[in-house]
Amino acid sequence: MKQFIVGPVEMYPSTKHVLEKGYTYFRTEEYGNMVKKCLKKVSEYLGNSTENSLIYLAASGTGAMDAVVDNCMTQNDKALVINGGSFGHRFCELLKWHNVPFEAINLNWDETLTENHLQQYENKNFNTLFVNIDETQTGQLYDIKMLSDFCKRNNMFLVVDAISSFLADEYDMEKYGIDVTIISSQKGLCLSAGMSLVSFSKRMIEKINSNPLPKSYYFNFRDYFRNIERGQTPYTPAVTTMYELNDMIELIENAGGKDAWIKKVTDKCIYFRKKAAELGLKIPEYPKSNTLTPLYFDDVNAGEVVKILREKYQICVNPCGGEMSNKMLRVAHIGNTTIQDIDILLEKLMLAIKEVKDKKLQGAI
Ligand SMILES: *Cc1c(COP(=O)(O)O)cnc(C)c1O
Repeated sequence: MKQFIVGPVEMYPSTKHVLEKGYTYFRTEEYGNMVKKCLKKVSEYLGNSTENSLIYLAASGTGAMDAVVDNCMTQNDKALVINGGSFGHRFCELLKWHNVPFEAINLNWDETLTENHLQQYENKNFNTLFVNIDETQTGQLYDIKMLSDFCKRNNMFLVVDAISSFLADEYDMEKYGIDVTIISSQKGLCLSAGMSLVSFSKRMIEKINSNPLPKSYYFNFRDYFRNIERGQTPYTPAVTTMYELNDMIELIENAGGKDAWIKKVTDKCIYFRKKAAELGLKIPEYPKSNTLTPLYFDDVNAGEVVKILREKYQICVNPCGGEMSNKMLRVAHIGNTTIQDIDILLEKLMLAIKEVKDKKLQGAI
């Protein structure tokens, strides 16, 4: 099966086999030192130079989103959420769950977020903005500079879910004054699922330390900050995934570092979009992450195309959820795939589209 899904993505061979080399007990200095080395690199990739500001959790990305709302927010805060799809909606649900007052900027699936949307929220005492910088459901990449300027003007914390954007799009926490970044293992990092990482600005760490304790015992960030100074976690971490991360960092460094890695993903993305356009496939106009390309169909059922690709050609692409399930599918550019794989994908995609069209015609006769 060839994976063109957003995650878990196709892993690199050395990462897949890393555990065959054996691993050590996690309460040792040796393990702690490896963790510190890895987290230092990831912090560097995120553009965050604050010491001990990156923690890692044994949870998928949603667990980290939940824990961030629980630890960083209180009932006295007022949040604003960019809600342009299912992941924006998830932040709304979490804020509601934790009784944090919030309002949401709701976007249609194909609506580009602009200054106009933000205008009515200026000087309204919101103190934290939540955004999934790449709204994975549609692939829209929001303008980080615009959001960063908005937060600076309004003296707001900026919380970013960069789970599906990390290592595919440019990103820099200090440049944009980002206070929290959530990433997870199974997307651009190309590791197994089940580990997430959260990076904080100094002022957000201070806020967490002065907030009331979170509801969650397991995800009490104060314990994580204390432990991470030694490369440790309060409870058993995702040990095997940390070994995979150690291997992945070596791959990224050998490829020329973070920027070279992002370029590799970008090149695949550009290649796909160019070829897809030449084939007459429809790509929505809004600004997009390099992580994935949405393809829009008005005359065939996109869900049927996804099904044929998987069942007949062993190629996995993302369907779209909800109201878009028959209209759009998504092709990811992260993970261990090549230009040759993309050529095969496009060939099979066109065959699948033809098959759905033919079926529709026969049905009509
Ligand atoms: C994948 C993803 C998540 C996390 O989803 P999980 O199923 O918990 O791994 C969160 N936000 C975005 C934007 C994502 O793409």
